[in-house]
Amino acid sequence: MVSVNSLAQAEALDAADLLAPWRERFSIPPGPDGQPCLYLCGNSLGLQPKTAHDRMAELMRAWAEQGIAGYFGEGGWGPYADRVKAPLARLVGAHPDEVAAANTLTVNLHLMLSAFYQPTAQRWKILVEEKAFPSDRYAAASQLRARGYDERAGLVELSPRHGESTLRTDDIIATLERADDVALLLLSGINYYTGQLFELEPIVAAAQRRGIVVGVDLAHAIGNVPLELHRWGVDFAAWCSYKYLNAGPGAVGGLYVHRRHHGVSSGRLEGWWGYAPEGRFLMRPWFEGAVGADAWVMSSPPAPMLALLAAGLEAFEAVGLPTLRAKSLGLTGLLEQRLATLPAGQVEVITPSDPAQRGAQLSLRVGAHRKALYQALTARGVVGDWREPDVIRVAPVPLYNRYAEVWRLVELIRELL
Ligand SMILES: *Cc1c(COP(=O)(O)O)cnc(C)c1O
Repeated sequence: MVSVNSLAQAEALDAADLLAPWRERFSIPPGPDGQPCLYLCGNSLGLQPKTAHDRMAELMRAWAEQGIAGYFGEGGWGPYADRVKAPLARLVGAHPDEVAAANTLTVNLHLMLSAFYQPTAQRWKILVEEKAFPSDRYAAASQLRARGYDERAGLVELSPRHGESTLRTDDIIATLERADDVALLLLSGINYYTGQLFELEPIVAAAQRRGIVVGVDLAHAIGNVPLELHRWGVDFAAWCSYKYLNAGPGAVGGLYVHRRHHGVSSGRLEGWWGYAPEGRFLMRPWFEGAVGADAWVMSSPPAPMLALLAAGLEAFEAVGLPTLRAKSLGLTGLLEQRLATLPAGQVEVITPSDPAQRGAQLSLRVGAHRKALYQALTARGVVGDWREPDVIRVAPVPLYNRYAEVWRLVELIRELL
């Protein structure tokens, strides 16, 4: 990253940025002064692509004009679930038959755990990262309880070393190598709190050497960083689509099942939409699953949500993740560089400084007494978020954020400190 020493230099980067026109295709909410706010919260809720209105209107028209025929007809919503498959597969590095859009994230985690968490007398515990997103913890703990285990004994945490904020890959691998009683590792692709991107390839390899199943929560990773789930051998994954994928609040989530598990139905929870499509309407009494991840889709697809997901995916299809990632590295690199110019000891970036171990987000530890700093930023039109006890999260998103915004953010922090 070239060093940027003035707002004018940051603006020059924006002027040269081939992705800059994409910003116009998103609705940026106004800040307190009526100008577009400084939106750095795409890691929590991505902004609305303007084409979302068109996709939704098409669906409404098909429903109004075709009624039930819209499930099957030309221009209807029947093919939506298949249309989003290839784009999703590209984003997670999988074969299209390994992914499906369905449900929401925590529901998908439960579906996956119901099947992939197969405890034995020897191996029965679930390993999670410390400060895993609470929903993931609750899912894992309640799965333990449902199988009759004591969740407090069965949920094991990976903790950073004393005085450190993030996990070392070597430590994760060493834990896996010692873990004689662990059945399953449930890890996020990127930790929501620290912004750490886990080095999944060596972690998955270590888990597999020990016969430990690996599931990954991609909430903060999909659409943010390159992923190779199939090649890395990840067993299962799940994600939501309202963060970097910009598919809207409550968007339909997704799931991934590695090909080596296709056709293995033990523990899988099933419903009619997972039936092989040719036979779905034969209404037979016994389930015969579709090929691959589709066998996991239990219910008829939520067409409006798929229409919004299609709108969100358009940008990724048009631009490609490598191009987005290149700009993302630039934006987040600039943010880190500028934060380093603040007076020492005020703002500690707890996200790894290695760009290969982070996505767009940086987590700024400002001290629990500094919530007022966050509030003052909010009053000036910065949209980030505060995570207890002492962290401000900000994520410049390459589709709609600018280098000049990163510059402005850090100058605002400097003023307010
Ligand atoms: C955002 C997020 C969730 C949210 O789950 P929903 O079921 O979509 O509400 C879960 N886990 C992680 C890691 C997240 O970042």
